[in-house]
Amino acid sequence: MTLPKVELHHHLEGAAPPALIRDMARMRGADIGGIFGPDGGYAYRDFTGFLAVYEVATSVLKGPEDYARLTGAVLENTAAQGVVYLETFISPDFCGGRDLGAWREYLHAIAEAARVAERAHGIVTRGIVTCIRHFGPAMARDAALCAAETAGDFIVGFGMAGDERRGVVADFAYAFDMAREAGLGLTAHAGEWEGPTSVRAVLDDLRVDRIGHGVRAAEDPALVERLAQTGVVLEICPGSNIALGVYPRWSDHPIARLRAAGVKVTVSTDDPPFFHTTMTQEYDRLAQTFGWGEDDFAALNRVAAEAAFCDTATRAALLKRLEFADD
Ligand SMILES: [Zn+2]
Repeated sequence: MTLPKVELHHHLEGAAPPALIRDMARMRGADIGGIFGPDGGYAYRDFTGFLAVYEVATSVLKGPEDYARLTGAVLENTAAQGVVYLETFISPDFCGGRDLGAWREYLHAIAEAARVAERAHGIVTRGIVTCIRHFGPAMARDAALCAAETAGDFIVGFGMAGDERRGVVADFAYAFDMAREAGLGLTAHAGEWEGPTSVRAVLDDLRVDRIGHGVRAAEDPALVERLAQTGVVLEICPGSNIALGVYPRWSDHPIARLRAAGVKVTVSTDDPPFFHTTMTQEYDRLAQTFGWGEDDFAALNRVAAEAAFCDTATRAALLKRLEFADD
């Protein structure tokens, strides 16, 4: 699929090419060989193992310059997949340990690398600040403060990643309220490892505009109806769900059923090298499994562009680029 793509659910560190992480580890004399499999890619057994490997890989990224290099490498790869607009999750937990001054320095380096990538490859990038659920509500508040203080042209959203099986959603409401007051779009991971109750919790307690994954809402017809009625957008990452065993086979994935029920669905890669996927592969598998063609994908990209947290001028330019603008 060569059509221009919009990607909304993407973790910056999670997109780190294994070769880059290996190189940085070598430079620092860090022994992280255990996180790689025989093929040189990231290797782990299950979701808990994935989170552990993710943290080890991220541990070699030490400062703003490393993040600038990471951003450049990731955006070059993402643009090569035909992605013209990307929202990527960036965590103050990893970038400066939730210290606002340090966070500003990381962010400056990342945003500058994104501008360079835009000039070189035409990809427009915006950042969504994420808190990490299993780090708890206090750290989430610090992350939200970083988000609120740097909301603007580049930082356009606030979200929650991490282990959905840990903690109580309502405890994170303060962080999300702070981000909402700063004008940021809101999203939270839910309905991936937990079922419909988890999706309801982020809708009711965090009042999110989008849900990361959310696919297990499909188990509850009333919730599917609610999503369709309210227009809350699902950031669906089918290849991630298959790789981590949320669903055993592509044909079991509910994305087509959710879409048919009127839910706004979008397609993203989540952590592409960790799941051995790319945007092109996601589209190809969806085309093979559900018979989706270019018109379906064009419609999905329009949904994604309209759900993007960027300002109206950026969205208008994006829609025009997708050839959906009226003129
Ligand atoms: Zn994710």
